[in-house]
Amino acid sequence: MKVGFIGLGAMGAPMARHLHAKGLLTAVGNRTQSKADELAAELGVRAARSTDNFADCDVVALCVSLDHDVLTTVEGLANVLRAGTVVVDHSTVSVETARRAAAMLATHDIAFIDAPVSGGVEGARNGKLSVMLGADEAALDKARPVLEAYAARITHMGGIGAGQATKAINQVLVAGINEAVCEGLALGEKLGLDPDKLLPTLMAGAANSWFLEKRGATMMRDEFTPGFKCVHMLKDLRIVQGIAASAGIRTTAIDQAAADYAELVERGQGEADTSALITLKREKPSQG
Ligand code: NAP
Repeated sequence: MKVGFIGLGAMGAPMARHLHAKGLLTAVGNRTQSKADELAAELGVRAARSTDNFADCDVVALCVSLDHDVLTTVEGLANVLRAGTVVVDHSTVSVETARRAAAMLATHDIAFIDAPVSGGVEGARNGKLSVMLGADEAALDKARPVLEAYAARITHMGGIGAGQATKAINQVLVAGINEAVCEGLALGEKLGLDPDKLLPTLMAGAANSWFLEKRGATMMRDEFTPGFKCVHMLKDLRIVQGIAASAGIRTTAIDQAAADYAELVERGQGEADTSALITLKREKPSQG
């Protein structure tokens, strides 16, 4: 099987490395060409210069940034891939984008799987991602060896879009936990509690979470290297707001998180890790 990977960022590069370790990786591509050239040279695979260079692949996986990036990449792939091949998208985008991508490829008999992931850069590096899928069975069967290269769990949630719908729910929980952890730790700092005692105590009880474990100590040291960028969290929360508005639920947590990440992005913190949220929580609220 020949596999291509497009989007070699915080998530994509380690995922591509796992494919290489399984002997599946043929070509890598990225918007900034130097990243593809460097990884390709290191792994001894092809550095693609455009989607044309994936023409011989059986499966092409993407982990790019935004909805627009998925749609332009898929448009390019639709014109070059053979019938019967599969495009797997690991980016977090809207359900609507997943359906549009699938429709574009379907006219060329190419299958599409929306396959967003959770588990952070640590999950990508360790090959322990949770992958949530919208796909038909036949496409999933073909792509399974690819997914198994970096997944701890693969869940087929339903037809096209069901993976992205599941990821939207995932992001509600992630954003809500971030709000609580950052607010709690900012308060702990103000009360003068020793982080070396506070953090393990919280982690040993009911307050533990992935975010507390992975980002608690670094945020208290003011280290905000991504990880997961604020600008991507804001993108996700805008998607979630759209879904929640149509479904008709009370969105207190979602709206507060969206407002906070919008403020961080406005302040020039878009490329910082989401744990930079603690910098807002440390501030005294403005009066009246
Ligand atoms: P990232 O570090 O910014 O990486 C994105 C990569 O995609 C960059 O290398 C970028 O190229 C490349 N890219 C963007 N548009 C492209 C295009 N049109 N064609 C080719 N390459 C393109 O972001 P990330 O953290 O890996 O996240 C990627 C996606 O996964 C996002 O949708 C994000 O929401 C989602 N996600 C992230 C995490 C996480 O913890 N980080 C977890 C789950 C899901 P450049 O080098 O030019 O920037």
